[in-house]
Amino acid sequence: MCGIFGYIGTKDSLQVCLNGLQLLEYRGYDSTGIAGVENGQIAYCKEAGKLHVLQQKLPFQKLDVAIGHTRWATHGKVSSNNAHPHLDEKCDIALVHNGIIENYDVLRSDLQMHGVRFVSETDSEVIVQLIAHHYKGELVEAVQKVLPLLKGHFAIAVIHKDFPDRIVAAARECPLAIGYDDAGTEAVISSDPNAFLSSTPNVLFLRKDEVALIQKGKISLFNSQNLPLCKQPERLEGHHTPPSKGGFAHYMLKEIFEQSATVQKAIFGRMDEKEVLFEALPETFRNAKRVWFIGCGTSAHAGMIGSLFLEDIAQIPSHTEIASEARFRIVPEETLVIAISQSGETADTIAAVREFKSRGLKVLGICNVKNSTLTRETDGCIFLKAGPEMSVCSTKAFTSQIAVLYLLAKFFARQSAEEIKTIPAQIQEVLKLAPLIQQIAKKYSHFRNFFFMGRHYMYPTCLEAALKLKEISYVNANGYPAGELKHGPIALIDTHFPVVAFCANKQTEEKILSNLQEVKARGAPIIALAPKELSAVSAVADDVIWLPSTSDKLAPFTSTVAGQLLAYYIALSLGCDIDQPRNLAKSVTVE
Ligand code: GLU
Repeated sequence: MCGIFGYIGTKDSLQVCLNGLQLLEYRGYDSTGIAGVENGQIAYCKEAGKLHVLQQKLPFQKLDVAIGHTRWATHGKVSSNNAHPHLDEKCDIALVHNGIIENYDVLRSDLQMHGVRFVSETDSEVIVQLIAHHYKGELVEAVQKVLPLLKGHFAIAVIHKDFPDRIVAAARECPLAIGYDDAGTEAVISSDPNAFLSSTPNVLFLRKDEVALIQKGKISLFNSQNLPLCKQPERLEGHHTPPSKGGFAHYMLKEIFEQSATVQKAIFGRMDEKEVLFEALPETFRNAKRVWFIGCGTSAHAGMIGSLFLEDIAQIPSHTEIASEARFRIVPEETLVIAISQSGETADTIAAVREFKSRGLKVLGICNVKNSTLTRETDGCIFLKAGPEMSVCSTKAFTSQIAVLYLLAKFFARQSAEEIKTIPAQIQEVLKLAPLIQQIAKKYSHFRNFFFMGRHYMYPTCLEAALKLKEISYVNANGYPAGELKHGPIALIDTHFPVVAFCANKQTEEKILSNLQEVKARGAPIIALAPKELSAVSAVADDVIWLPSTSDKLAPFTSTVAGQLLAYYIALSLGCDIDQPRNLAKSVTVE
């Protein structure tokens, strides 16, 4: 799960490549590395840690051609040795790789029998050693010979010391975009075209073992049978605005505070007083007999709330499945699959989309990033319009996802969704509670374990809030349907195990109050998130975050924002790396 970038052209290759890697850091930041050709030799530098570490250590100032990598480790620990690029034994060839080579150990043993010595623990190194093994003076040919030997998925970029004017790239299932300008003075490769669009708007995407020979002003493509391939470039528009924290201490806090505006954007122009209108939605989607949501992490939680919306509002049976598990399930015919991914690049979600498309099902995407893989592989896509989300821990994308899902349920029900217009103002109300939530967070930040519980709409809402806390504070937080606690987990409860109770579901008010009594009886400190009118909570909870009153269906918005602030301030008290937590990446691009 990494970002690959490469540049060849008239600009400063090294600088362009470093800028590209910066924009790809959302795909992983365990280590970074860069390689190029300098005076007929491969020059490279790689370091554990984020890009700024690499930038301080660079031993060269100029490269003829450059390829770079930002890594999320799958095989081999996080170290400079395992960082990409990887080189062959003679240091003639350098390679960067996104993906996983599943048969790397067999291939590695074969090469070791031929006397090849490996220096890293990665699966990726075997690719470059194999290319060197098959190299007879033609880099493209060597790459073409190696691809059929590889099991797994990959996007690779390769350079050779004798060819400072070319990059060879190939891909199977992992995204790889090649961009070039109209004048033919430069070419760029990237895991994500959004990292280069402003200068090179003509874009080719590599698919299914296709190989590209990239030279300044000339791109030659070959299919998996090694035959020349002619593809029309797509003309993609877009430009990158440099991200800014806008005066906030962290992107996460800025993005939490943007949510009143981003929910507004998600709903703006998508309804009139009679019904909901979606630009990208074929009318036939309304004939779906049932809906399956697929997604991972936060997007899966949004899907769970979406399922409740569809059933409660449109009476359409609906189910949410974690994307990586979806392929093992039977999905009935006439099911509309809705794939949710902030980035549109989540590998597990994309794999599930491909699986369901191959079964003949229609797939709708919901994502935040234009030109992403999800937008290209689905039958329609609804955009969140939330703007770039920089914090690895997702906040504004989630509330925009549930706003879009609420509209979608109303679209299926052919109803208007006027009531959702109250939400931006209610989010503002919750944001005013930030100082109070910070005090509560400080009081509880020394605990190492938390239970989050809720019922009905508050169940997926509490799962999402618990995930926020885990991600950024490294504290164990388990989300449970409140009714389940007594079936096992309550055994863990004692005075060292606070419970965070999501009480904003009116339909289940009495039951959650009883659950609070049950955990109180076992000594748990209790933080409750409750609507103003549920005064009974104050008798049992140690601390209450009072939320604006709203309907059960809309309560996930306000409760979520409060939960995000709680997680943020606990992580802040603990001094964690809030925007880029350890072991995570913004977009998870390996399965
Ligand atoms: N599997 C390779 C590694 O662990 C590449 C991972 C990636 O895509 O970042 O280094």
